[in-house]
Formats: sequence, structure tokens, C-alpha cells
Amino acid sequence: MAQLMKKNPKCATCEHLQQCCGGCMVEDITDDGDYLVPDQKTCFFHKHVGEAAVREVADAAVREVRDEGTSL
Ligand code: SF4
Repeated sequence: MAQLMKKNPKCATCEHLQQCCGGCMVEDITDDGDYLVPDQKTCFFHKHVGEAAVREVADAAVREVRDEGTSL
């Protein structure tokens, strides 16, 4: 983690760091094996989608299942 922060100052100062941690270490691994690269999908999620949006979809799904009387 310290190496990722040292190499990626944007992550080190990011407001989403505690939730994101730079994302998956292998998602954007380079051809030469550098894994200290922020995961762009996770980065996009934290910066533009957010956990609240996912929670809203999940809550709607749970309500729908409950309304139908079935279990998850
Ligand atoms: S959201 Fe992006 S900049 Fe912030 S910690 Fe995650 S990967 Fe780094």
C-alpha cells in the first residue's frame, strides 16, 4: 500500500482512499508486471458512481423480493 501511495500521489491524497485503496492490484497490471497502478474501473466507481448508488439498487432488489414473498 505504501508503495502504491508513493508511486501514485493522486491516490495518496484522494478522498476515497479508505474505501478504494487503489482498487484491485492486478486489474490494470502492465505488460512488464507493474502492479502498482490504480485500478481505473474502481477509481471510476468511487469518483463517479459511489456506494450510495449501489446500495440504492440493492435495496430496491431486496424490496422487490420481499414484495414477491420469495427469499434471496
Ligand atoms: S478513487 Fe482513484 S485516485 Fe482515489 S484511491 Fe481509488 S484509484 Fe486512487
